[in-house]
Amino acid sequence: MPGRRLGQHFLRSQSLLERIAAAACPESCQTVIEIGPGRGALTQHLLARAERVCAIEVDTVLVHYLRQKFRDHPRLFVCNADVLKTDLAQWGPVTVAGNLPYYITSPIVQRVLELRGLLRRAVFLVQKEVAERLTAAPGSRDYGFLTVQTQFFCHARLLFAVPPGAFQPPPKVDSAVVELVPRAAVPVEDAVGFLRFAGAAFRHKRKTLRNNLAGAFDNTAVAALPESGRRAEQLSVEELAAIYRRLQP
Ligand code: SAM
Repeated sequence: MPGRRLGQHFLRSQSLLERIAAAACPESCQTVIEIGPGRGALTQHLLARAERVCAIEVDTVLVHYLRQKFRDHPRLFVCNADVLKTDLAQWGPVTVAGNLPYYITSPIVQRVLELRGLLRRAVFLVQKEVAERLTAAPGSRDYGFLTVQTQFFCHARLLFAVPPGAFQPPPKVDSAVVELVPRAAVPVEDAVGFLRFAGAAFRHKRKTLRNNLAGAFDNTAVAALPESGRRAEQLSVEELAAIYRRLQP
């Protein structure tokens, strides 16, 4: 069934759609990129709040439907493409919103984070389990590399849960809306270097920093860290950033 393969679960509740649009554009906003507009349920709420909506949909049948349905809306640009192959920076500073296709949530979040200074805010409807990972606190079960990657760039907040019955057809999992607001400044300038370090620190979730960083960083410097016997999952982004700075030659 092609629809299911593309994660097509359409949100039916107008009040939930309006809450998502209001979270994405609390005041009027300029350009919104909508990921996976489907039949345009959220699109019309976004159009009421944004100056321009660029909606990226991979399913050609839905793209024809959208272009027909919104033919009188010059402020909507429908882009028939795979979001993972689309240059999101082409539209300048943006808010990003969407009821995401769950099978590619993490790569979508990563691409949105790569917008860096061009990202104004992101509001996504995702699988609840992923929402919990994005917003997790250090030491909790859900805290991992995806959390650190997200919270390095943004403040992440779980806004509200959405039950399966709010969709047509209902998904097998619970869902939730998350908000990502870019930090005023990232904890260390060298984001690429920090994320490489964080990736190594989380390589084996149950192992200590000393074990996970061995080989990737100077062993003497790692052993000298007061935190070397702790696990990455116990440390906040700020603590990890401080350790990364101390490991620089
Ligand atoms: N926004 C609509 C709603 O709330 O009713 C539909 C959301 S549905 C969960 C996800 C949408 O993402 C579907 O329309 C699907 O075709 C689209 N989609 C799936 N994979 C995609 C991709 N790689 N790039 C762009 N859109 C994609």
